[in-house]
Amino acid sequence: ELSEKFDSAWKKLRGHDKISDTNVQDAIRDVRRALLEADVNLQVVKEVVDRIGEKALGTDVIAGVRPDQQFIQVVYNELVELMGTDNQPLAQSENSPTIILMAGLQGTGKTTASAKLALQLRKQERSALLVATDVYRPAAIDQLITLGKQINVPVFQLGTDANPVEIAKQGVAQAQAEGIDTVIVDTAGRLQIDQDMMAELSQIKGAIDPDEVLLVVDAMTGQEAANLTQTFHDQIGITGAILTKLDGDTRGGAALSVREISGQPIKFVGVGEKVEALQPFYPERMASRILGMGDVLTLVEKAQEEIDIADAEKLQEKILEARFDFDDFLKQTRMMKNMGSFGGIMKLIPGMKISDDQLNQAETQLKRVESMISSMTKQERKDPDLLARSPGRKQRVAKGAGYKTQDVTKLVSDFQRMRGLMQQMGQGNMPMGMPGMPG
Ligand code: GDP
Ligand code: MG
Repeated sequence: ELSEKFDSAWKKLRGHDKISDTNVQDAIRDVRRALLEADVNLQVVKEVVDRIGEKALGTDVIAGVRPDQQFIQVVYNELVELMGTDNQPLAQSENSPTIILMAGLQGTGKTTASAKLALQLRKQERSALLVATDVYRPAAIDQLITLGKQINVPVFQLGTDANPVEIAKQGVAQAQAEGIDTVIVDTAGRLQIDQDMMAELSQIKGAIDPDEVLLVVDAMTGQEAANLTQTFHDQIGITGAILTKLDGDTRGGAALSVREISGQPIKFVGVGEKVEALQPFYPERMASRILGMGDVLTLVEKAQEEIDIADAEKLQEKILEARFDFDDFLKQTRMMKNMGSFGGIMKLIPGMKISDDQLNQAETQLKRVESMISSMTKQERKDPDLLARSPGRKQRVAKGAGYKTQDVTKLVSDFQRMRGLMQQMGQGNMPMGMPGMPG
C-alpha cells in the first residue's frame, strides 16, 4: 500500500500521472450539475462535458496541482474559449450607416436593448437612429419614441399602417441621407416562434442588408434558448446576441447554449430596465457565473488564485531537466505556501512520510531558506555553483540574511545534492531523502 503511494506520487512528480476518470470523477459530476443548474440546454451540456472531458482526460497531471483542480481549470478555460474568450464589439461598417437589425421573441427586451445600444453609441460620439417597425401594437412605437426622447436619439416611424419592410428601408435611407453613423432597426416579436414573424424578419433583412443581426435572448429562457437560437439562426442568420435580464438570479446558462448552437458571439448583456443597464459581454465572467455555485466556484477560484498552471509546468520541466536554480526553488516554495499546504509538496516527494510536527519544523526551515536566498545576488541564484566555490560570497549572504556562514554552506550543498537527485529522478531513478528537510 505504501509502495503504491510512492508510485503514485512518483508518477505525479514525473508528470506521468494522467487526469483520469477516477481521479476527477467528483469534479466531472460537479461540472455537469453546475451546467444543468445554470440552465444550460441538456444537449449542450452533454456535448460540452464530453468534449471537455476528452480534452482533460489523459492530460498530464502537473506537479503540485490536484487533478480535480486542474480539471476544473480546463473546464473553465474551455467555457471561456467556447464563449469567445474576448468581448466582441459591435460591427462597424466602413460606409455609414452601420445597420443593426434586432430580432427575438416578444418581451425579451428588443426595444429596450435598441435604446440601450443607441445610448452607448451616443456616448461614444457616434450618432444613431432608431427605427420602429413593430406596427402590431401601437404602444410599441410609443415606447421607442419615449425611450428615444429619454436618451436624445431620433426615432424614425411611419405609424401602424405602414409595412415593416418599407419602414426599415426608409429608415435606413434617412440615416444615409443625414449621415447618421448607426441605424438600429427594432422589430416586432411574437410570444412564440411564428412563421409570419420569421418571414417578416427575413424580408426586412433582405431589404436592408444589415451589418449585424442581433438575437435578443432573455436569460431566463433557460433550456429553450437552444431551440430558439437554432430557429433564428437557421431561418434568419444571426451575427451575434444580446443576453437580457441578467440582473435576475439566473446563472446565464443560455449564454453557453446560444454560443454553442449558433457559433455567434454574445456581444452585450442587459442588466436592468434602465437605459444605462447594458454591458459588454465578458466570457470569463460568464464562465464563472455559469460554474458559479458551491464547490465548483470555490475550486475555480482557488485554482486561479493559487496556481499559475503555466508556471507550474515550466517548473516541472526544469526539475526534470535539472535546470532548477535558487529562483525556482523559491518560486516552488512560495507556490506551495500559497496553496495553503506545505504538505502538498511533501506528498509529491517519493518516500516522504512526515508528521505535523515535522511539517512545522520544515516550514521554519523553509523560512530560513527563503531569507538566505533573498540575500543572494541574481547571478548567485541562477548559478548555485558560484556560491559553492566562494567562501566570501557565502559569508556575505549569511550576514545579509542574519545566519551563520555554515548555514549557507549547508543550504548550498543541500541544494546541489537535491539537484543531483532531481536529475536522477528525471532519468527514472529513485532518490533518497530531500535536503533542508528534517528526517
Ligand atoms: P421587446 O418586446 O422584446 O421589445 O421587450 P421590451 O424591450 O419591451 O422589454 C420587455 C420588458 O423587459 C420591459 O418591462 C423591460 O423593462 C424589461 N427588460 C428589458 N431588458 C431588461 C433587463 O436587462 N433587465 C430587466 N430586469 N428587465 C429588462
Ligand atoms: Mg418591442
